Amino acid sequence: MGLEVLVLEKLDGPGGRARVHRAEGFTFDMGPTVITVPQFLEDLFATRPGEPRLYPDFPAEEDLRHTSQYVQIVPLDPFYRIHFPDGTHFDYNNDREHLLSEIRRLAPEDLEGYLRFERDARAIFQRGFLELGFTHFGSLWDLLRVAPDLLRLDAVRPLFSFVKKYFQNPKMRQVFSFESLLIGGNPLLVPAIYAMIHFVERNWGVHFAMGGTGALVRGLVRKLEELGGRIRYEAPVRRILTRKGKVVGVVLESGERLDAEVVVSNADYVHTYGELLAPEDRFWHGDWRLKRTRLSMSLFVAYFGFRARGDEGERLRHHNVLLSERYEGLLKDIFHRKVLPEDFAHYLHLPTLTDPSLAPPGHHAAYTLVPVPHNGSGLDWREIGPRYLEKALRYLDEAGYLPGLMDRLVYTHFVTPDYFQWTLNSHLGNAFGPEPVLWQTASFRPHNRSEDVRGLYLVGQSYQPGAGLPSVMMSAKMTARLIAQDLGLERAPRALLEARA
Ligand SMILES: Cc1cc2nc3c(=O)[nH]c(=O)nc-3n(C[C@H](O)[C@H](O)[C@H](O)COP(=O)(O)OP(=O)(O)OC[C@H]3O[C@@H](n4cnc5c(N)ncnc54)[C@H](O)[C@@H]3O)c2cc1C
Repeated sequence: MGLEVLVLEKLDGPGGRARVHRAEGFTFDMGPTVITVPQFLEDLFATRPGEPRLYPDFPAEEDLRHTSQYVQIVPLDPFYRIHFPDGTHFDYNNDREHLLSEIRRLAPEDLEGYLRFERDARAIFQRGFLELGFTHFGSLWDLLRVAPDLLRLDAVRPLFSFVKKYFQNPKMRQVFSFESLLIGGNPLLVPAIYAMIHFVERNWGVHFAMGGTGALVRGLVRKLEELGGRIRYEAPVRRILTRKGKVVGVVLESGERLDAEVVVSNADYVHTYGELLAPEDRFWHGDWRLKRTRLSMSLFVAYFGFRARGDEGERLRHHNVLLSERYEGLLKDIFHRKVLPEDFAHYLHLPTLTDPSLAPPGHHAAYTLVPVPHNGSGLDWREIGPRYLEKALRYLDEAGYLPGLMDRLVYTHFVTPDYFQWTLNSHLGNAFGPEPVLWQTASFRPHNRSEDVRGLYLVGQSYQPGAGLPSVMMSAKMTARLIAQDLGLERAPRALLEARA
């Protein structure tokens, strides 16, 4: 938009949750690995100076022509292999015939139910994602206008209860509801609007960035710099400065002061309002409101490198979801009771099946992620962490996912809720911002334009529309539009840019 942009990052490198951990020849993406809606990336990589591409919501790019100049994105098939404790599995992809054959193989009684689910989830996707996905719900009125549609589509009922209407088989109920966990949503509580994920993936597939998500991050940094943006690392912001109800800049932990006409916070919601904005600047986001915010769960993530046996690809795929005997009980332990369950549900990432360059020859690099309660639980992770690492890896070995793993390990590293809390500044170590329950969705999710001070904008997973890579890219576009509107750059961007130049 012709604005001078400086990114201030607390840590010593880019990526945030998508940071990379490198050690002993292994490359571990620390966070996101499932890339959905690559067209949003293409939109970013196609951006040129003076052409902000604020509209339309979904550009008509047919291929990933611009993206491929920065990073190679490859489609995965299956998207996930979902493993059940009885040794069976479901290979999930966007080939309708294949999906039907998987359902026929595991739960023939649910074939007809899937056809009804498909019809209804598609309608939710059409309205909730394609038509309303980029709506900034700045007031209750914005929500009231669309509420009748959401009610008609039954999109406000909890996702698991929605899925139960169509599927009798417990395995199918899990297959078609677990995905909200990937963005911090408890399937028992998130609204059924999240059933759209099925169609988001059906439409655009699931992709992987060769070289890891870190390669994508490097591509985005290069793009930002080509557009004239700059990044300063190890520059933690201590306070957002205001004068007469308007932002005037920030002050860093070092005491350095930087002036700015506009400040966009990409940090956690409670951190931004509770710590970066002075109490006297917060009328709408007082401590009472921040305390009432229900935060998403946290994660325990074990990164490990091991000697290959050569047969890893027989039972496992690039993305694996390992379900436990319990589903509803496990979710209640993590989200409601906030206790550490004895059994596990894992998401096991084995990217070296797609890109062997992420590990030394003859080795694999992997991570396994276990949802755990956030630090409101009072668990002492300094004490639990090493034991939990051992337990999680031993499970992969003894349950036969990676037989003999304990003897083949050559490198381990792990993060706990403490990493999210103290390194990434996420309140209580939440992994995905405010939990996406109905009463923290749309107008009820923190807004991307601050109500408290003019010139302050918010972006990323804590804000609208929510967590996950596609959502944070949508959030960025929505926030950019608000800034453009407020600075008068939206209606006639070119003329205004010329005037500014
Ligand atoms: C382990 C894991 C796996 C995931 N897997 C997937 C996946 O496969 N697919 C998917 O789509 N999504 C996935 N997600 C979700 C996705 O990663 C996030 O929703 C998304 O990356 C969040 O981006 P963000 O920019 O909002 O936040 P962040 O990436 O957390 O960025 C916030 C940045 O702000 C910085 N910061 C904080 N406070 C300050 C301060 N005071 N001053 C300066 N800088 C500050 C932080 O250091 C950080 O770099 C995953 C998340 C995790 C944790």
